[in-house]
Formats: sequence, C-alpha cells, structure tokens
Amino acid sequence: MTAPASLWRCSLCGYVHEGATAPESCPVCGADQAEFGPYEASSGAPAKAPGERWQCLACNAIISGPTPPAECPVCGASHETFEPAGLPGTTLAGEARIAVIGAGIAGVSAAEAIRQAAPNAVVTLISRESALPYYRLNLTRYLAGDISVGELPMHPEDWYAQNGITLQRDAEVFQVDAERGSLVTSDGRSTDFDGLVLAVGSHPFMPPLDGTTLRGVFAVRTAQDAEALLQAVTGGGGPVVCIGGGVLGLETAGALARRGVEVTLLESHEWLMPRQLNRRAAQRLERTVRGQGIRLICEARTAALLGTAGAVSGVRLVDGTVLPARVVVITTGVRPNTSLARRIGLDVATGIIVDNRMRTSHPKIYAAGDVAEHHGVLYGLWGASLTQGTIAGLNAAGADIPVLGMPRTSSLKVLGLDVISVGQFQAQDGSWVVVDGEDQQRYRHFVFRDGIMVGAILMGEGGLGLATRKAIEGKQSFAALLRRNASAAEVVAALG
Ligand SMILES: Cc1cc2nc3c(=O)[nH]c(=O)nc-3n(C[C@H](O)[C@H](O)[C@H](O)COP(=O)(O)OP(=O)(O)OC[C@H]3O[C@@H](n4cnc5c(N)ncnc54)[C@H](O)[C@@H]3O)c2cc1C
Repeated sequence: MTAPASLWRCSLCGYVHEGATAPESCPVCGADQAEFGPYEASSGAPAKAPGERWQCLACNAIISGPTPPAECPVCGASHETFEPAGLPGTTLAGEARIAVIGAGIAGVSAAEAIRQAAPNAVVTLISRESALPYYRLNLTRYLAGDISVGELPMHPEDWYAQNGITLQRDAEVFQVDAERGSLVTSDGRSTDFDGLVLAVGSHPFMPPLDGTTLRGVFAVRTAQDAEALLQAVTGGGGPVVCIGGGVLGLETAGALARRGVEVTLLESHEWLMPRQLNRRAAQRLERTVRGQGIRLICEARTAALLGTAGAVSGVRLVDGTVLPARVVVITTGVRPNTSLARRIGLDVATGIIVDNRMRTSHPKIYAAGDVAEHHGVLYGLWGASLTQGTIAGLNAAGADIPVLGMPRTSSLKVLGLDVISVGQFQAQDGSWVVVDGEDQQRYRHFVFRDGIMVGAILMGEGGLGLATRKAIEGKQSFAALLRRNASAAEVVAALG
C-alpha cells in the first residue's frame, strides 16, 4: 500500500518536499533527513474547532485554512499551539501596491507571504542581480561541484508570473520617495507603492589592507562572484589563500580543495569558527580540514596582500611570513547594505532598525534579512532571513504579526562533517550548566541556564539538529535531569 503524500520542510533552507517520507537529504542544501519536519495540515493535524483562521500561541502568527497547520510555518511550533483566531484585527491590503527591494531569501519570502495574505495585492520584486533569485547559501556547494548552476534558482522563471509577482531583474533602486510612495530603478522605471519591504542584504566586509583591489582577489557573495572564482582557479596554476576561518571561509576552502586546488586557510583567532564553536569542537574540525589537504594556520594576522603587475602574488602576515598566492579569497564577514535606508532617512545603527513587526522608523517601510537589526541583533543567517522576510511581507500586507528573537543556528556544508551550532554555545557565568560528551565519531555539548537548554554544539550528530533546535526554541526544561548530573547521552534521550 502506498502511503499518502505529505509535505516535509527542511528546517535549514525552507525547501518543501512532497512525498510519503522526507528525502534522505535535502536536494537544496544537502541537510540530513532528520532536519525535515512535517509541513502543513496534510499530515493529519486534527482541527480543534471549525474555523478559517488559526493563531499560533507561540509566535502569534495567523494562518488560514480549514485546520491548523501541522507545524507553524513561522516559528515551527506544533499544531497543538494553535487556537482558532478571532476576526482579523486589521484589514489585509486588498489591492494595495507593495514593492520589495532585494530578491534574496528575505525578499522572495516577503513576496510569497504578501501574495498569500493579500491575493489581490500588486506585488513587485526588484533585484539588481541579473540571475533568477537563487539559493545563495548553495554557492559553496556549487563551487565544490555538488550541484550545477541550473540547481541554484529558488523558482523557475515562470513561477513569478504564475504567482502574480512582477520580478524586475538587473534593476537597482537608487531613489525612494517614502512620503509619495514611489521608487526609481537604474533602468529608469518608476514604481508606486503603498508599502515597501527593504530586503537588500549585505556585502562582504573587506578588511582595510593594502592590496585588496589587486586582480585575483575575490569575495564570495553572488553567483557572479562564484563564477569568477571558479574561472580563476580552474586550469591549474599556483596556490590559493583563503582569509577567514568562519563558515564561509571553511566551505570555500573545502570546495576548492575538492577541485584539486592547493589551499591555505588563515584564521586570526586561536581556532576555527570562533563565533560558533568552542576550542574542543574546533580541534575536531581542524582534523577534518587538514585531512582534506587544506593547510590551516590559526592566529594568522594578515598584514598586506602583495602584488606584481596589478595581480595578487601573495599574502604577508604580521609575523613576516609570506605565503605565495595566485588567488586570494577574503571571507571575513559581512556588513549590511544600509546606504539606501540612510538616504531614505530611516533609523540605522549597524543595520536598519526594526521593531517586532519588522517595521522600520517609517510606518510604510519594513526591513528583513541580513540588512535588518532587531533588538541589536544582525543574524546574517538564511533561516532568520526567511522567517523575517515572511513576517515583514505579512505585516506589509496588513497583518499584525510579531516576530520574536530566535537562536542563531549555523551548520557546515561541503566538508562532509555534520557540525551544528545553536544559540549560546558557551556558559556565560558559573550558574550555567554544561553537559558534554564525545567519542570517536561524535561530539555533543549542551548549555543550560536555569535548567533550560539555551545552546548546543553537535558534531557527527546530523540527526539531532532539529530536536535540539526545537528544545531551545521551545525553552524545554531539563532541570530534573540536571539535578541528577545527567550525561550527554541522557540529554539526547530526553530530546526524543
Ligand atoms: C556562499 C554563502 C554561503 C552561505 N551559507 C549559509 C548557510 O549555510 N547557512 C546560513 O544560515 N547562512 C548562510 N549564508 C548566509 C545567507 O545566505 C544570508 O544570511 C542570506 O542569503 C541573507 O538573505 P537576504 O535576502 O537578507 O540578503 P541577500 O541574499 O544578500 O539578498 C539581497 C539582495 O538585494 C539586492 N540589492 C541590494 N541593494 C539593492 C538595491 N538598491 N536595489 C535592488 N536590489 C538590491 C542584492 O544584490 C541581493 O541580491 C551564506 C552566504 C553565502 C554568501
């Protein structure tokens, strides 16, 4: 007997899979099967009462449908947290014109959410890139040769017209008149709007070093960057130096090493991924990195990039070491694209300041994704951008849905080692409890505050990522276990 088809959502990239079971691995981001959870009511979530609209009591999202969804598409809470919602507090935007600037994951999610919440709204999605909106997080898998260029787009070209979304590509917005509600793009077109979502993302941070403008120096942010880097490294030549041992630097170094390139990876901190891993976890990761033929130098402070005839020829470190390089890749973080927001006159700190509705200091304008600063936090992560984009889109369409903070979740692709870091991975004072354990294959590290799990590092434990994130987001208490000095294995058992 064939099992009924259901929908499954990858908790890392948001990909929705239709089938009797979740796929073995995510065809989009490569995440393990265990990262998939049921999506929508098709998995048989019982209706609590007749009704058309359901409110998630965890995040207040209001979802339409004859039954509550199996899992909240906004915060992931289970169907049990839904109650029938009363009449809408606000009127959805009807035929309002809503423009979204930036077609990364935040912008595309916003456009999708607007379309769902306000079927008659006129939705315009504007991108300065020429490529169809794509899975930016997969550029390193593309560099590694895991996926082809044809697998990068989020949707086929006709999807936008079919969903009533006007997609303008190769169009940069330079000018926005917030009071009149109009904007002008680089191709001279002007668009009037009643609501606006800024989802303009971030750009690579270039450290203030001599030589960063030399030929052969690359960043990895866009599909164009990835293509140019690939062209520069294929066909042999000398060594490549990657500066920055965070997630992007590691994945890029791993991808190039898999293409047979001689790679040196420089990290200025004592250990790799210092924003996501403790020293112990990083030591384990270092073994994998070195095992893949990557030369790794930690505590390596770059003094300058050296050049010959306008092209990069090496990297000089502060201690005087010179590393020859025909290509240098700089992955030292990102900075939000705030110039447009500053020209509009919006409140900007590091990013565009947004409230709990993702609204900026102008009532008509929302912001989401890498560019948004929410309670002082810039996430710089795919999942957070997707959630924020959805909320900004729903609210721009007239809903009233707050977004709460969320734990940062990072995972590593390309290197073939399951590494997940969630939330606060280090105890902040002596009252916090840490439970860890390891063996040859696995490392588990759980952090608790007042008996509640607030963070974790998991290595070689791809199957535990979703359960751990849910425990942290759901503020699950482990107090009774901790009183008994529970082992890491007991914590894992309690995660279910
Ligand atoms: C190679 C790579 C791998 C990554 N891997 C991971 C990962 O594994 N997990 C994870 O959580 N995160 C990962 N990230 C980070 C993640 O991709 C970002 O957090 C996410 O893409 C941010 O989405 P966004 O929509 O806010 O911004 P962006 O994706 O930056 O999109 C913004 C878009 O707006 C456009 N734009 C800017 N200004 C204008 C303008 N004035 N007019 C028109 N268009 C404009 C930009 O060109 C861009 O296309 C990775 C990033 C990179 C580069």
